[in-house]
Amino acid sequence: MSSVITRFAPSPSGFLHIGSVRTALINYLFVKKSKKEFKDSKFLLRIEDTDKERSENKYFESIINGLKWLNINWEEEIYIQSKNINLHKNIAEDLLNNKKAFKCICTKEQLDKKREKYVKERKNIKRLCTTCENNIDIQSLKKDYCVRMSIPNNGSIVIDDLVQGKVEVLNSEIDNFIILRRDSTPTYMLSVVVDDNKMGITHIIRGDDHLNNAFKQFHIYNSLNWKIPKFVHIPLMHGNDGSKLSKRHGSMDIIEFKNNGYLANSIVNYLLTLGIYSSKNEIFSIDSIIKDFELSKINKSPSKFDYEKLNFINLNYIKNLNNNDIINLFKNDYNFDATNFDTNLITKALDILKNRSNTLLNLKDNILPFLIAKNLKRNKNDVSEESIILLKKYKDIIDKENEWEKEKIERITKEFTNNENIKFNEIGEPIRLILTGKSKGIPISDILIILGKKETLERINNFFI
Ligand code: GLU
Repeated sequence: MSSVITRFAPSPSGFLHIGSVRTALINYLFVKKSKKEFKDSKFLLRIEDTDKERSENKYFESIINGLKWLNINWEEEIYIQSKNINLHKNIAEDLLNNKKAFKCICTKEQLDKKREKYVKERKNIKRLCTTCENNIDIQSLKKDYCVRMSIPNNGSIVIDDLVQGKVEVLNSEIDNFIILRRDSTPTYMLSVVVDDNKMGITHIIRGDDHLNNAFKQFHIYNSLNWKIPKFVHIPLMHGNDGSKLSKRHGSMDIIEFKNNGYLANSIVNYLLTLGIYSSKNEIFSIDSIIKDFELSKINKSPSKFDYEKLNFINLNYIKNLNNNDIINLFKNDYNFDATNFDTNLITKALDILKNRSNTLLNLKDNILPFLIAKNLKRNKNDVSEESIILLKKYKDIIDKENEWEKEKIERITKEFTNNENIKFNEIGEPIRLILTGKSKGIPISDILIILGKKETLERINNFFI
């Protein structure tokens, strides 16, 4: 082994979603591991913005903000593909001059017609232009042509992919694809190869939707006598039901996870559990697994996005945050300044509620009622006559209680419901409502512990005023 250089090369034609983050993470991880031995290993970021019609600044920002949020840190300046377009064109010229590529004047209509004919005849023929390459007149044209790669008819290509293993494709099955369009702009297929070569990329780690492209790109490398990087095509991520990743499954902007109360470390940890690293214990950091990480151990089957597991992991990370970190996150990211409220109450509420909140938003929603319900005047009609009688009795009982502990409160509440011959909710709902303003949610014993005896009685008394 020697030092390695990888790149994450998204097109800014869509938001950075969790599937692409997984690709970026594997690139980053591979380099991070290599750096232990080879300090000059590098993880680079290239924005593939040559498709000007589909590229948008908001997507560019989504990529940058998402990677920064997750601490998937790239090195060097961001490489902007469109700035390098002249080099791509020059390389296409070289390929033309060396007869590794040829000029083509076929129109879209002509090619579509041929394609339709082959489909009808059930022929799997990829090469649609068969005449231009050997036509001297066309090859002497000065304008109005596109440039296609010249691919031999015989032989095959074998790619030894570090995840997929050896994959062989016959040359006859490879299209003589376009590298320079009629308007002389380079295509993705060419630009990727030229840039990867220029950036010294040693390992191309990307989604396996690009595996077919690798064979075409292989031909470009070969024709230019360039060293071919190692290919690593990782299986894509699917929705929980096995379908393509959709918005519902999390194909939205990765920053939405932050907005919905997920922590960056939870997202990274969760992604690591998806076919990248397997262990009995599902909670681990990048640093703790780095020495065991191997590209060859990446799962060959698609991974599935699953909120349940993500929530489980997020809960674990929230549990282990200290209260100050939570208060800072609330303030910086969730527009909620908890320091405006009683510090004691906040601390007690966080100590208890952080153990049962899947997301920071959920934690905020659980805490807010405690904080804002203090002086809330409630409408007596919210609570039935029977409940008011029960509440008064319950108040008298807890008033006498000096050991204000969870188990004790649970016990006396249970005794109360037994003695009164009522269902738990008959006292649970009204007590919750008058203490926190919400009739459902947190267990009564937790509410009473968070509020403390004095505050609990004050809030109950307030209700009866
Ligand atoms: N720009 C391509 C994409 O966003 C990736 C190209 C590559 O990694 O080679 O799918």
